[in-house]
Amino acid sequence: MKRPIRLGLVGLGKIARDQHLPAIAGVDGIELVAVASRNAQAEGRRNYASLEDMLEAEGPGIDALALCQPPQVRYAAARAALLAGKHVLLEKPPGATVSEVDALAALAREQGVTLFASWHSRYAAGVAEAKAWLAGRELESGRITWKEDIRVWHPGQDWILAAGGFGVFDPGINALSIVTEIVPERLRLIDATLSIPANRQAPIAAELSLATASGAPISASFDFLQTGQQTWDIALTAEGGTLLLSHGGNLLSIDGVPVPLGPEAEYPALYRRFVALIAEPASDVDVAPLQLVADAFLRGEPTHAANFDF
Ligand code: NAP
Repeated sequence: MKRPIRLGLVGLGKIARDQHLPAIAGVDGIELVAVASRNAQAEGRRNYASLEDMLEAEGPGIDALALCQPPQVRYAAARAALLAGKHVLLEKPPGATVSEVDALAALAREQGVTLFASWHSRYAAGVAEAKAWLAGRELESGRITWKEDIRVWHPGQDWILAAGGFGVFDPGINALSIVTEIVPERLRLIDATLSIPANRQAPIAAELSLATASGAPISASFDFLQTGQQTWDIALTAEGGTLLLSHGGNLLSIDGVPVPLGPEAEYPALYRRFVALIAEPASDVDVAPLQLVADAFLRGEPTHAANFDF
């Protein structure tokens, strides 16, 4: 039997602990052998303070790396990993800019290794069914509502409100990763307003106006200050019917009737995809969601919001 892919993980923070470690443990064909993190260690694995230390010590003992740090520092790590001949999984968003992700995709091709720019929300339980329902139907309009409490989901993460941290687009890009996957046409950004706290660099809320290439409007409201009930909804109307993806894509109803779905298992599906890509071999790097966010920064009107402190 073929031996499992030996994986190193970089950046042992919230998402690595909450999702990556259990998902890797449950997926065949891949095993976690080492972790590189400046301030954290994983039990039962070889631990290093930096990726460089890990690459030097492990050498050919590692086949692939999962990069789970904030996006501002991901490019340098991904470049070092690809140059070392490793397959690379990038957490979302895949980088702080579109151009750096393009550069990584080109480097992965040159090196003949797999680069997987992962979008975990695309593996939410209702996404494939929603895509199938929309295929062959003409979209009339769409409404995205993505509102969560930054203090609950990103406690103390100052990087998220720094330049390159995406602010409310950190969760909002998950919605964009779903719509760019399920809407058959390309999407374009028309305009945006960005509410940026006076003491921070990235938006705490945003309103987006998007459209399909042929003109069907899709609006999006992103808010990072939603207390109480959290909302991660996408409503799309096509040929008189309305599809509602809620709970981040893990619940689906069509014309108000719930569609039976499998359990929520985004990260195991994402690792199964990574294993399959390495086996092919192939890469999967879709920058469409990142490009829409970049366009919102390019085209959007910034407005000042109140100071924000955790
Ligand atoms: P986090 O808790 O802050 O963890 C990131 C880890 O990266 C840190 O613990 C830190 O570990 C390491 N790191 C390396 N360089 C860093 C730097 N310059 N600044 C801060 N940390 C640095 O963040 P997270 O929530 O896990 O998010 C990481 C990535 O996963 C983001 O791209 C995010 O969009 C994505 N993600 C997050 C969630 C979520 O619910 N939180 C969900 C899905 C995806 P050391 O200090 O030990 O090096």
